[in-house]
Amino acid sequence: MTPSLAPAPAPLDVALLDTISLYIHIPFCHKKCHYCDFNSYAGLLGWRTKYVRALVREISLAGQAARMPDGARRRCRTIFFGGGTPSLLKASEIAAILQAAQAAFAVDADAEITLEANPGTLEYHHLGELRATGVNRLSMGAQSFDADLLRWMGRIHSAEEIVTAVHAARQAGFTNLNLDFIFALPDQTLAQWTDTLDRALALAPDHLSLYSLIVEPETPLFDWVEAGTVNPASDDAAADMYLLAQARLAQAGYAQYEISNWARAGHQCNHNLTYWHNLPYIGVGAGAHSSFAGRRFAAVRPVAGYVAALGGDWEPTATTFGTVGGPVTDSETVDDATAMSQTAILALRLNAGLDLDHFARRFGVTFAATFGARLTDLVAGGFVEYVGDAETGRRLRLTERGRLVGNEVFERFL
Ligand code: SF4
Repeated sequence: MTPSLAPAPAPLDVALLDTISLYIHIPFCHKKCHYCDFNSYAGLLGWRTKYVRALVREISLAGQAARMPDGARRRCRTIFFGGGTPSLLKASEIAAILQAAQAAFAVDADAEITLEANPGTLEYHHLGELRATGVNRLSMGAQSFDADLLRWMGRIHSAEEIVTAVHAARQAGFTNLNLDFIFALPDQTLAQWTDTLDRALALAPDHLSLYSLIVEPETPLFDWVEAGTVNPASDDAAADMYLLAQARLAQAGYAQYEISNWARAGHQCNHNLTYWHNLPYIGVGAGAHSSFAGRRFAAVRPVAGYVAALGGDWEPTATTFGTVGGPVTDSETVDDATAMSQTAILALRLNAGLDLDHFARRFGVTFAATFGARLTDLVAGGFVEYVGDAETGRRLRLTERGRLVGNEVFERFL
């Protein structure tokens, strides 16, 4: 089945390289889900006040270090509260963090500001307050509508709470709403997946993210699989569920724009597009990753270590930002060859593909000249194709054939 294609996006402006997206990590959860390897912790909510204070300080320092050469604040196009469970914070705490972001960066007046929410933690009567802070997009981890599968995953919410949360969010004025689901769960049937998709579509979300279950090390799920008490779904079962989702979502008017993401017109996630376009982003909070000024770096993962580092006298400057020290534990310089490979691989996840003119302006060399014979072979083999023209923007994207062996195609660009 041919996936529906999102409308061709506008060509990317090189000026976007001077902007950032801001990711804010909230590492608290009521309970760890059995499959989750994110940097999130149960039982640490007592750290919340100190953690918010540390975040506010880090945002202010990051804003200073990321100033433009003329001293102006750097433009910030999107903000994303991820986790963990950001919906465990009070609206007043979200407001304080956003104020810090606005003081540190030149945040667009119409910036997309997303908050990830667990339907089991939303205080419905506070959703209006949350909307009033400036958060204008909610992303809910729904995961399934099947009560047994929700229990098996260790989720803290019921199927009914997903419905209540969506209705409450709409009533509070959220007009941009995403629902996340996981498929290819052990013993999940096509009928269960169909039912989940139908119930999700009945709620008319603006965006849907569908991920197949991955067995990550250091999770209870990994131990169960190792012990042989759980059998992961087969690749065939996962492919059947993926194809079913593609068909049903296309029928319901959602355009697929990335391997795992679908949206109604005008509701693609701009924050995640920053990652897929390999544009700069700054992550703040425990374990958060950044890609900025030719470096990739990550902050210390433990909550206590992060709070302690920000309580000290660490102060990044334009030249030390992203180097190891302070809350940063890991930092690497990204050379042009690596940046070109990453840009190609990330953009090929998008249905629209890679913007070739932007690539040439960004790196000062054409994509064809960079990848030469490897690219010619992939085009001749029918794995990638050129679309668009000089006026609409020329692009390179995976063909249907290329999608089936996406990882092998990506490897050719390494
Ligand atoms: S709620 Fe999200 S971040 Fe927290 S444990 Fe579950 S999957 Fe992980």
